[in-house]
Amino acid sequence: MTNLLYMSDNYLREFDAVVQKVADDYLVLDQTAFYYLGGGQSSDRGSLSSEDTSLGIHEVRRVEGEIRHFTNDPIPFKAGTKVHGALDWEFRYECMRFHTAQHLLSRYLQLKYDLITVGNMIKPKRSRADFTPMHKFDDALKRDVEEGVNAIFARELDVDTRMMPRDEAISFLNERGYQTRYLEMVPASVTEFRVLIIGDYDAASCAGTHVANTREIGAIQIGKSKNVGAGKQRIYFSLKAP
Ligand SMILES: [Zn+2]
Repeated sequence: MTNLLYMSDNYLREFDAVVQKVADDYLVLDQTAFYYLGGGQSSDRGSLSSEDTSLGIHEVRRVEGEIRHFTNDPIPFKAGTKVHGALDWEFRYECMRFHTAQHLLSRYLQLKYDLITVGNMIKPKRSRADFTPMHKFDDALKRDVEEGVNAIFARELDVDTRMMPRDEAISFLNERGYQTRYLEMVPASVTEFRVLIIGDYDAASCAGTHVANTREIGAIQIGKSKNVGAGKQRIYFSLKAP
């Protein structure tokens, strides 16, 4: 299994690895800083290089238990080749800002309006999240959400992640009043959870990438919303850099 370096360091932009397997359009490495598609967050992209050869990676996905780095080009490496990986950092950092913003948007809507987040899509420029039960999202509500969420960012809360044994993670979250219903559905083979803690405001189990402090997010701008099913609203948002 590939060692996922971003789990302990979200700011790692470059890394060294050894190729474990090469197929027609993908490679598997012994370790990687590339985030693989999941949890609503876009996968990383970037390059792998060795000596004077470089290979573009356009997507990373987990398939059949393997973390596959996909490319559109002929693969010049073989198993055992030492490669240097580099992320498209601009893209990834945007994902970190948007992902952290989404946690706080969801928490704000949960605390103030009792809304549950039932989906999300994190990517640069414009992300989205789905909330229920919600029948419309008018201008007054939009303004309240922008002001409320921006006030949280402005508190400059530290963002930490901690690996915890399964039971400990569930009781840590339960005791503090956070949702754990979705964790009960995770297969029992998962014995450790990565717990995200945003100051005293939010906590959740999440394997995504986040910024280290809410001051890095900037300001949220709520865009359009649309009905995506009975009592379900999809809200689009963008971020103005700090
Ligand atoms: Zn997250």
